[in-house]
Amino acid sequence: MTVVPGVDRAELAMSPGADVRDAVVAVRTWLDAHLPPHWRDAALRGGREELRRVRPFGDYEEWYPTFARSGLAVATWPVAYGGLDLEPVVARAVEAELAPFNLGRLNPLGLNLAAPALFAHGTEEQRLRFLPPMVRNEEKWCQLFSEPGAGSDLASLAMRAERDGDDWRLTGQKVWSTWAHMADFGVTLARTDPDAPKRAGITYFLVDLHAPGVDVRPLRHLTGEIDFNETFMDGVLVSDFHRVGGIGDGWAVANATLSGERQMVAGAGSGGVDRIGGAAAEALVALARANDVDGRGSGWSDPQVRQAVMRLWSEERIRAWTNQRVRAGLKAGRPPGPASSIGKVHQGSLNQRIQAMAVDLLGARAVAWDGHSGGPEAYAAGLPAPVKGMLRSRANTIEGGTTEVNKNILGERVLGLPRERDPWAGAPWRDIPRS
Ligand SMILES: Cc1cc2nc3c(=O)[nH]c(=O)nc-3n(C[C@H](O)[C@H](O)[C@H](O)COP(=O)(O)OP(=O)(O)OC[C@H]3O[C@@H](n4cnc5c(N)ncnc54)[C@H](O)[C@@H]3O)c2cc1C
Repeated sequence: MTVVPGVDRAELAMSPGADVRDAVVAVRTWLDAHLPPHWRDAALRGGREELRRVRPFGDYEEWYPTFARSGLAVATWPVAYGGLDLEPVVARAVEAELAPFNLGRLNPLGLNLAAPALFAHGTEEQRLRFLPPMVRNEEKWCQLFSEPGAGSDLASLAMRAERDGDDWRLTGQKVWSTWAHMADFGVTLARTDPDAPKRAGITYFLVDLHAPGVDVRPLRHLTGEIDFNETFMDGVLVSDFHRVGGIGDGWAVANATLSGERQMVAGAGSGGVDRIGGAAAEALVALARANDVDGRGSGWSDPQVRQAVMRLWSEERIRAWTNQRVRAGLKAGRPPGPASSIGKVHQGSLNQRIQAMAVDLLGARAVAWDGHSGGPEAYAAGLPAPVKGMLRSRANTIEGGTTEVNKNILGERVLGLPRERDPWAGAPWRDIPRS
């Protein structure tokens, strides 16, 4: 494909380094010219709920490159990578202008997982090649890290990468690869030196999922949908240009991806994915109020219900503010580091409690589920499928690293407690027993 770096300047009259006033004027002009008028009207009339009704996801996906080409999707990124090079304070003003129209960023696994690795460890050529089409959602990304024998203990992974002239051959199995069945590229980790200690012998690659030898097999999960996959690679040829960081330096590169993943799952990521969002807690309040009006079970007039709902609502606000702090730090150029584990640990249990409370409030009506609609978004929109949100929320304490493992990270790297003992520290990977 032809890669066009940078943003389409003709579409947005905003120069790099614009101040808040210029930026706000430019965004308003752009919205007038490019946002479909019926989306605009719906958003101004009835907020996100109304917008969801008139804007099916397919329509949004089709229109999305127009948004991405403007640079507004990643406003703080450099122009050459698809952004606008805006100062954090200007970007916040831009976000506030866009917020009523809920212009969520697509390709979250690219923007949140692959991009941090490219920014921190990629070459300029790699950034120019991969970031602009990622921003425009023209090349979709996934993450191929976990293996059947390497989840929490990711560094014990067994996928092999062997040199083949100037290139590499990758062989092995990955699992739980979210959206791999829809992706064009995956970030992956493979073992290049089995004789080195486990973290030292890993290298980070970008794999073309359409290459010969890649076999993506979908897995169906508890809610009935296909989200993730098993991904097999049988001697897949990967160009050395697709290696990020040095040979054997993959663990450091992986940490940029894992940190981005924790922020994304916690809702602090730059990719605009917010699994809970204020909407779920707001919807809980609406549900309790509706119970009163309909006379259907416990509702807002019951002080115990009010107390339980408001406890969750308050926690949700704290979660949102914590994420805002992490985001502001990132935009100011500070690394998120292990602190992103705080949001990850909190959001997992919070969403499970919000979803469980919704099911409690609905009682028997919670199980009326057509098998298709549902999930936190549908629930926030008032659709009758909270049981699906509740089932999906079980994964929140596993995906992006389990709660237990994130608590280990917090204990060791934030609180400074002694490190977990590793009897195999320093031993060659080849000699370490694996499950
Ligand atoms: C919805 C979903 C989407 C996912 N998407 C992706 C994806 O796109 N790409 C990808 O690569 N992976 C993905 N994963 C995989 C995910 O990263 C792993 O499931 C996770 O890291 C846990 O690994 P595991 O399943 O092998 O469990 P295990 O590592 O086998 O853990 C089993 C249990 O032991 C506990 N445990 C393990 N080690 C310790 C320890 N040291 N201290 C205390 N307790 C411990 C764990 O907390 C857990 O309860 C996804 C998972 C889910 C649920």
